[in-house]
Amino acid sequence: MATSGKQRIVVVGGGTGGMSVISALNQWPGREGLDITLIEPSEYHYYQPQWTMVGGGLFPREVTRRPMTDLIPASVNWVNKAVAEFAPGENYVTTVDGDRVDYDYLVVAAGLKLDWDKIEGLPGNLGKHGICSNYSYDSVESTWENIRSLREGTAIFTFPPPPIKCAGAPQKIMYLAEDYFRRHGVRGNIKVAYRCAGDGIFAVKKYADALNAICAARDIDTQFAWKLVAVDAAAREATFEHTKNGERRTERYAMLHVTPPMSAPTFVAQSPLANEAGFVEVDKGTTQHVRYANVFSLGDASSLPTSKTAAAVRAQLPVLVMNLASQMEGRRLTETYDGYSSCPLVTGYGRLILAEFDYDLNPKETFPFDQSKERLSMYLLKKHVLPVIYWRGLIEGKQWPWLMPESHLKAF
Ligand SMILES: Cc1cc2nc3c(=O)[nH]c(=O)nc-3n(C[C@H](O)[C@H](O)[C@H](O)COP(=O)(O)OP(=O)(O)OC[C@H]3O[C@@H](n4cnc5c(N)ncnc54)[C@H](O)[C@@H]3O)c2cc1C
Repeated sequence: MATSGKQRIVVVGGGTGGMSVISALNQWPGREGLDITLIEPSEYHYYQPQWTMVGGGLFPREVTRRPMTDLIPASVNWVNKAVAEFAPGENYVTTVDGDRVDYDYLVVAAGLKLDWDKIEGLPGNLGKHGICSNYSYDSVESTWENIRSLREGTAIFTFPPPPIKCAGAPQKIMYLAEDYFRRHGVRGNIKVAYRCAGDGIFAVKKYADALNAICAARDIDTQFAWKLVAVDAAAREATFEHTKNGERRTERYAMLHVTPPMSAPTFVAQSPLANEAGFVEVDKGTTQHVRYANVFSLGDASSLPTSKTAAAVRAQLPVLVMNLASQMEGRRLTETYDGYSSCPLVTGYGRLILAEFDYDLNPKETFPFDQSKERLSMYLLKKHVLPVIYWRGLIEGKQWPWLMPESHLKAF
């Protein structure tokens, strides 16, 4: 414990998971007893789920980011640097500058690393020669530029081997593009192709059935077990490798939407906190580290074996915060995460399938209707309501009791 007598909590990463933990902790009844530090190198926080809509021309990219200084509560110490190493045996982390930050409790929410360079020929060509991607703030507008200017040829949308954040995003932008081509009279000249490294279109059968039917009805050429390994930007050719037999083949494209390979951040993967796959090894129910009881993790960098989404973070948040409180007070950890995750599958302008499911891939739907059907109401939810819930509820914590049931708050 710090000399001030306060419990020192260090949060690594100020994305969806880190900022939601910060805003929750900042509103604890026992807040005065905490000394909270956030370590985050970025000047901005990004609402990544909205990049699908930016790529589809529905918002300018600027609405998806806000300066960290507007979001971090004044009472929280912000170390505007990257963490380089963890020393969980001695309860400290080291920043890239070599500074040491000690803690009593640690929360790791460092997200996923994007491995653009694993695709030969891609670095330096993103945003050029018909190559685009919704997976970064810098490239997301190139998606819209390509969609609105394409008149003929093949538009290819790729999906890498896991891990991946928002496994639905690579196909959502495909449906928007296909819809746009159709509405603008060029669909007949454009082949729409989905090249997926996975074995199927979606992990949950109920939604997979609906999506396969949509692809068939809209003449989308879906092929599975093919991963993108190289691009020849000048020639507009993409090379794919079969994930099972290693066969390679090359396809020409007019537009190529790339979802890059991803992995656990290197500084996490090389630390004592990691499991074999490189993720922070936590209990799948409690979110507590399996070897270091004062370490917790949520979101994409955690080993929680569910679909990596902001919606999953929202469900993990109260579990982590309640269990962290119990750990600090020497009580038994009682909260359990059931693997809830959600994917708002935009299937066109004005249409959306809202997939919600748990660890067992059983649907866990919120609304009293069949969410595997395309609906305008769910599209409006994604476009207009979820951003408010995200910024005000999750990141600013304005509706904290709404996010965390009253009964949980009483426990503090
Ligand atoms: C195109 C796209 C569409 C998506 N659509 C949806 C959707 O519709 N619904 C949904 O629920 N989710 C969606 N997601 C996924 C969602 O954005 C992520 O799952 C979520 O942001 C994960 O939160 P996180 O805190 O784990 O990681 P992030 O939000 O990525 O935050 C990680 C943070 O860690 C920081 N960091 C990195 N390295 C270090 C370091 N060395 N030291 C300290 N900090 C570090 C980063 O700067 C970053 O701020 C989408 C994502 C993308 C890219």
